[in-house]
Amino acid sequence: MRFAASPDDVLDRLAALRERDAPTHGGHVLSYVYDSGEPELDEVAAAAIRAMQPVNGLDPTTFGSVAALERDLVAFARDLLGGVEEVDGEPVVGSVTSGGTESCLLAVKTARDAWLAARGERPGAARPRLVAPVTVHAAFHKAAHYFGLELDLVPVLPGGAVAAADVAARLAEPGDVALVVVSAPSYPHAALDPVADVAQLTVARGVPLHVDACIGGMALPFWPGLPAWDLRVPGVTSLSVDLHKYGYAPKGVSVLLHRGRDRQRRQYFATTRWPGYPVVNPSLLGSRSGGPLAAAWAITQVLGRDGFATLAERARRATGALRDAVAAIEGLRVVGEPVGPLLAVAGDDAVDPGRRVDPHRWADAATARGWVLQAQPAHAQADGSRLPHTTHLTVTPVTESVLGELVPALVAAADEVRGAPRPDVTDLLTGMPDGDLDSGTAAALLGTLGLDGSRIGADGPGVGAMAPLLAALESVPAPVAERLLTELLARLVEPR
Ligand SMILES: *Cc1c(COP(=O)(O)O)cnc(C)c1O
Repeated sequence: MRFAASPDDVLDRLAALRERDAPTHGGHVLSYVYDSGEPELDEVAAAAIRAMQPVNGLDPTTFGSVAALERDLVAFARDLLGGVEEVDGEPVVGSVTSGGTESCLLAVKTARDAWLAARGERPGAARPRLVAPVTVHAAFHKAAHYFGLELDLVPVLPGGAVAAADVAARLAEPGDVALVVVSAPSYPHAALDPVADVAQLTVARGVPLHVDACIGGMALPFWPGLPAWDLRVPGVTSLSVDLHKYGYAPKGVSVLLHRGRDRQRRQYFATTRWPGYPVVNPSLLGSRSGGPLAAAWAITQVLGRDGFATLAERARRATGALRDAVAAIEGLRVVGEPVGPLLAVAGDDAVDPGRRVDPHRWADAATARGWVLQAQPAHAQADGSRLPHTTHLTVTPVTESVLGELVPALVAAADEVRGAPRPDVTDLLTGMPDGDLDSGTAAALLGTLGLDGSRIGADGPGVGAMAPLLAALESVPAPVAERLLTELLARLVEPR
């Protein structure tokens, strides 16, 4: 047949677009991407995706390869995360999902359905609580929103971990709690929540406990000196781990494990009440790709446990080196006691304001030097305390090989902005409404913040300086900030 364009031309256009992206390899982007530093792993992942390309993961009875790969991947995660032993006749079972968010959504949906079933309630008729530290990943906010739970957020200590006693206070009347969640570690501060202490509380009250190990699950098993945090802890009823993070697989693959078959079966959706094929979905999607599953499977087979240990060790050394380097920079401090290959950096209030480094200005200065750091907003907790605004660094095995360039760049970036206060956004915010915004108003306000959706990406990755944007987002009511961000992203993909 005659094509509208030659495949080569189309692929050239794709390559040109990809060239303008932030670099996915080489450790220059310290969030989003997880570079093992081993090109062979990318090659085997690509070949595995190619082999699975035409398959539909919707039906593992028609495509038995999907079942075989999923079985292996669940077994790999279960064995790594302390789930080999049965407890009270309950094995650990699980499934592969499209990512951390889907694993977290399903953990909540499963717990909610178990809670409803135990009370003979229908969805919507009752609103159970989801108790979690304020640092829990935003995916749980989404889950509470989608599945009709009340999100009951517990303040954390200044180091970023929750105190078990503060969780206990939320469980005084556990009858309406469908699930407690803790992180291993948390994304914002790399804090390892006290899993065993919280599990003692939940077991005593008959409440399920999910450990969100989306980011830590493939690395912490190789971190020395940690207290038990995985499925070995009695009372941990489910655990999520992302293979597309420290499993080094391309995006689109995570594992959700549950203790107990009957608990896990509530994750499924099955229906025979329509005139089409009988539907049985373990996850949120219907038709699904077998590609990321196959890629993750291939990588786990190639690396084995020892390979993951070697890569985690590289990331651990690099994280230690970065932690020391940041701690030595006047005006910055590392938040808490980070666990795993990530850390958060705040301004050091102990030094004179003239010598302090604003972490977001620092991130902008580092980005200008080619090292992309992630700005995180300050957060007011329910107890009146405030978590500082920070800059997040995700460290990967490849980071170790670029420390010689990265550390001097981080030092120079701090030198450049030391003493500069947070951007003053009061002017930008005059006349900022606090009610519902329509699309036109939101776009106009974005313009005053210097954000024009049609320009984004035109001058390289990102939306420009993060410090003023984050300061502005912190200063407006959350619904306004959320509406502005929605407008920004929605306009980005409107046909031009
Ligand atoms: C990344 C992450 C998630 C969500 O994962 P996505 O893969 O981005 O959907 C959940 N929890 C934690 C702790 C994470 O780091």
